[in-house]
Amino acid sequence: MPDSCLLLDIEGTTTAISFVYDVLFPYAKRAIPAFVTAHAATSEVGQAMDLVLQDASDDERRLPRTDAVITVTRRQMAADVKAPGLKTLQGLVWRHGYESGEIKGHVYPDVPAAFAAWSGAKRPIAIYSSGSVLAQQLLFRHSIAGDLTPFISGHYDTTSGAKQSPASYLTICSAWGRPPGSVTFCTDVLKEAEAARTAGLNAVLLMRPGNPPLPAGLPVAVHGDFSRM
Ligand SMILES: [Mg+2]
Repeated sequence: MPDSCLLLDIEGTTTAISFVYDVLFPYAKRAIPAFVTAHAATSEVGQAMDLVLQDASDDERRLPRTDAVITVTRRQMAADVKAPGLKTLQGLVWRHGYESGEIKGHVYPDVPAAFAAWSGAKRPIAIYSSGSVLAQQLLFRHSIAGDLTPFISGHYDTTSGAKQSPASYLTICSAWGRPPGSVTFCTDVLKEAEAARTAGLNAVLLMRPGNPPLPAGLPVAVHGDFSRM
């Protein structure tokens, strides 16, 4: 598929799953209280706080505004709830962390060279991840290998649909302006690869260090990295 476009998952594909769980989530948990206390008056943070408070219980609603936001997000993070308000606020907190240099986005060592090679071969690259578009852009802009965003021509998140739903892949191909048959989706999750194939894309599974094991005998090609793609 030398002329095909590449649509890439992040966690378990370009980036260690542990980066999200060992770096990003703990950073958000640690930084949200001081961040909302310091920035509650800005419209961007204020709007994210309004969104978070839509998920507040009656008891939480009785707290002062900043305390309520801290309490709701702490509860949601402990339960790994993917709420829109929490995701929006986490994105703003991560931006603060990346821009201050406290966080650098993890990418596997072959990723920068692969991006450069694909770009050199005029193979467009886009990202499809459950992390928000802002979180995706931050990770690649402030990566351990420098700014990789010049290589990326599209960012898609679950506002394009669920990753295990074939319709999402058609929505993304249409938005990106690429026929499904010209796109190879790379992921670590079999059900996502199957959904992409159902939509008419090619799919490849990545078996990165730290990924959970994949069953044997899969009908999808499995690669250890991007070097042969
Ligand atoms: Mg993944």
